[in-house]
Amino acid sequence: MNLCDINQIKLLLARHGFKFSKDLGQNFLCDDQIPAAIAEGAGITPDTCVVEIGPGIGALSAQLCKRAKQVVAVELDRRLPAILNETMAAYDNFTLVEGDVLKTDLPALCKEHFGDALVIACANLPYYITTPAITALLECGCFDRVVVMVQKEAAQRICAGPGDKDYSAFSAQVAYFAQPEMILDVPHDLFIPAPKVDSVVLRLDAHKTPVTAATRKEVFRVIRAAFANRRKTFANGLCMEYGKSLSKAQAEELLTGLGFAPGVRGEALSLADFDAIAVKLKEMNG
Ligand code: SAM
Repeated sequence: MNLCDINQIKLLLARHGFKFSKDLGQNFLCDDQIPAAIAEGAGITPDTCVVEIGPGIGALSAQLCKRAKQVVAVELDRRLPAILNETMAAYDNFTLVEGDVLKTDLPALCKEHFGDALVIACANLPYYITTPAITALLECGCFDRVVVMVQKEAAQRICAGPGDKDYSAFSAQVAYFAQPEMILDVPHDLFIPAPKVDSVVLRLDAHKTPVTAATRKEVFRVIRAAFANRRKTFANGLCMEYGKSLSKAQAEELLTGLGFAPGVRGEALSLADFDAIAVKLKEMNG
């Protein structure tokens, strides 16, 4: 069947007595170009192993299976395996794992299904888990690339840089792991049911080597200090984060020593700046 044809989707869902769950962020793609464009944009080749999050009824899964070596999909809704059994029957490289991606041991899943092969994560993410899901996919260190469809505003926040109004702690944290790029706009009327907002496909290419000298914990602590209170200067934010171990005078001296104004705001600084500050803080604290 054509998994992108809205009339065929409606018939399939009615036959299975399936009703969409808003709580599970269920907006299924019903367009015959977008699933293929996502799989193409993800750069999937016949050697690629893929982890998909939330296959739904399989619109994207089918396009992934057509291009990839193997696709393992994690789906939380226990009503969907019966439908996927039917819609994905033609693809012997598709494996369904029932569960919550946020509670899944992703390194163990990749190891079990793919050994040491390079893996790409691909998903039309349910909006309600955008931040924790992207964090989990990047933090686990299993994926060469993460390609996810998210709400347009979320994509803009993730891709924002210093000085942009959408720049946030999460933008800097994502930059620690990967290079983000918006690769495809997806209008809201290409889903059933149609959400109120448009989406964007985001491609996150994981850095092959670390881009900071300080550790993740050290850099993320500085990022937290930068964005915890946007009305305060960064020097004040650092004092609040580091407590008694850093006076305001020391914080300002540290910043000026690195060439920043003493009253600089955290949102004006890049990941490289946060790294330089983390390194200096480590030197100061021995
Ligand atoms: N991939 C399908 C498509 O593009 O048409 C469906 C995408 S729909 C936006 C999100 C899917 O994620 C749904 O199938 C939903 O049941 C599933 N889902 C929601 N929360 C999940 C979670 N925590 N772990 C795994 N799957 C989840």
